[in-house]
Amino acid sequence: MSNNETRTAVITGASSGIGEATARALAADGYRVALLARRVDRITALAEELGKGAIAIEADVTNRDSIVAAAGRVQEEMGGADVLINNAGVMLLGPFTAEQHDDYRHMIDVNLLGAITTTEVFLEQLKEDGGDIINISSVAGVRARAGNGVYAATKFGLNGWSESLRQELLPDVRVTVIEPGAVATELPNHITHAATRQGVVEAYRQVEVTPDDIAEVIAFALSRPRRLALHEILLRPAGQEL
Ligand code: NDP
Repeated sequence: MSNNETRTAVITGASSGIGEATARALAADGYRVALLARRVDRITALAEELGKGAIAIEADVTNRDSIVAAAGRVQEEMGGADVLINNAGVMLLGPFTAEQHDDYRHMIDVNLLGAITTTEVFLEQLKEDGGDIINISSVAGVRARAGNGVYAATKFGLNGWSESLRQELLPDVRVTVIEPGAVATELPNHITHAATRQGVVEAYRQVEVTPDDIAEVIAFALSRPRRLALHEILLRPAGQEL
């Protein structure tokens, strides 16, 4: 029996793309997976396919009550979360104009506040037994381009918050950030600015990196032993030198 068989991984945005592929990869590595997303039909089918105690929970990361309810189910039915993958995200690209104002708020709500909310809700479960948080950022969190300003801002924000959290939570919880480049998923299909959507969807047809490639990286990161670097050891006891 793999050591992972007693470990539970919670994955947000598990209904498609990188989240779905990560669910498959972690289930194959022996994790029990809790699949969170709004499209409940997709996650229910995936949980049935994966078996091994996988559960589907309809949840919207912009609605704290739904995340609290999801955490309650994970605690009750799976004994709590050991791994949290903050993957849910939207990429609503387009020129920076007032017409896109709903998109800006929505990206911040999902990509940044959604990850923060899901983490604070699950944090006590993750601390219980030595947990992992994996935040799915992007190359857009390192380098911004014309037309992706607010999306990049959410990923720059995610990176800054993750770095603080990483120092604050060690050694109880390990925080890892993954920054993929373009990955062939349905991410661009939700762009509301028609001309931008057409161009980006077209460009994504050329993309060769698959969600499975990213899932493999996530599974690899989780498989690494927890070792503190010297500067991290010097940060202990946690909090005093922050
Ligand atoms: P997908 O569109 O395939 O997946 C996005 C997931 O997020 C879906 O499962 C969707 O589920 C979920 N989601 C969206 N809004 C919410 C919400 N309010 N509450 C809960 N879940 C939500 O795209 P990807 O797999 O590509 O995206 C996954 C992550 O990877 C995102 O954070 C994205 O920014 C990041 N990324 C993607 C790259 C790419 O090129 N594809 C590159 C770099 C990073 P549902 O609609 O069912 O709720």
